[in-house]
Amino acid sequence: MTSSLRPAFHSDNVAGASPQVLAAITEAAAGSAVPYGGDELSNRVADRLADIFDCELSVALVATGTAANCLALSSLTPPWGAVLCHADSHIHNDENTAPEFFTGGARLISVTGAEGKLDPQMLSAALTRRQGDVHSPQPATVSITQITEVGSLYSLTEIQDIGEICRQAGVPLHMDGARFANALVALDCSPAAMTWQAGVTALSLGASKNGVLAAEAVVLFDTSKSDELAYRRKRSGHLFSKMRLLSAQLDAYLQDDLWLHNARHANAMAARLATGLAAVPGVQILGKAEANMLFCQLPQPMIARLLAEGYGFYTGRWAPGVVRLVTSFATTAAEVDAFIAGAAACAEPRQKGDNM
Ligand SMILES: *Cc1c(COP(=O)(O)O)cnc(C)c1O
Repeated sequence: MTSSLRPAFHSDNVAGASPQVLAAITEAAAGSAVPYGGDELSNRVADRLADIFDCELSVALVATGTAANCLALSSLTPPWGAVLCHADSHIHNDENTAPEFFTGGARLISVTGAEGKLDPQMLSAALTRRQGDVHSPQPATVSITQITEVGSLYSLTEIQDIGEICRQAGVPLHMDGARFANALVALDCSPAAMTWQAGVTALSLGASKNGVLAAEAVVLFDTSKSDELAYRRKRSGHLFSKMRLLSAQLDAYLQDDLWLHNARHANAMAARLATGLAAVPGVQILGKAEANMLFCQLPQPMIARLLAEGYGFYTGRWAPGVVRLVTSFATTAAEVDAFIAGAAACAEPRQKGDNM
């Protein structure tokens, strides 16, 4: 028994993997196959992705999202360049100095904007700042996260606007899609519409947070960088000799819409959590639970008691009293309801005249 007694909402990577993914690994592990991605399954994943995105593309599987982001960024950004990203972004806050390491020293320049999203005007200003000035890091790449690190969603129009700004500036647009599927089903649009049709040139397609054991894909819609990406992947140690075992995971993930099914479930669990918690006295839902990540404000005694009772979530990383709850493909309605009941049991009874 490896799961904790109480439900854990730290992140969607507290969950394991979908049975279909595990079965696919077992199946692929039998017999033999050409190493280093020259196998049938790896070709099939590339074909599936070309189908799903409805375009020509190149794919490189890696083991972590950090590797996917940093390999993508390093293929797009020269060492003297700058990657413009949101101040809250994973590449800026949660990948140590891997982006700098992989790019050979390129600078991350943060741009702000409400709801974890890049503000287009600030982005435009940052893109033209000291352009051509040999003394200053040259804006080379823009990176956005969908869904964002605060759980919000870029609308298609917002991505298109940023895509157009990048096109005019002549810089590539990278999307950190650690929760790509959650965004896709929330927006109910096609993968093409959310990416290359809106100006995205490179995507980190997350899968580990949505049912895969350990595999993520770098997808290049501008295939001119695919050779460079291949050399960089080898150099970083992410060219797996038994690549078919990573490919098997992605193959199962993309088969029969498993990825979309998992994401819909995760999003539905977050919505259930938001609705339930909103009715608990003292709890305030922050922002909108648009996909599978929810931020809320809880009274400190409630946080302390929930943690003491073994409920899992992150707090203390944001303003006092702010709690992050993330649901996954494996979260059950019973776990959500248990958390809501746990919070309700810690709540002060609502006073007459309270304006909740
Ligand atoms: C989880 C996550 C990643 C990938 O993280 P790894 O731990 O390297 O797999 C990348 N971007 C975002 C926004 C994430 O939440």
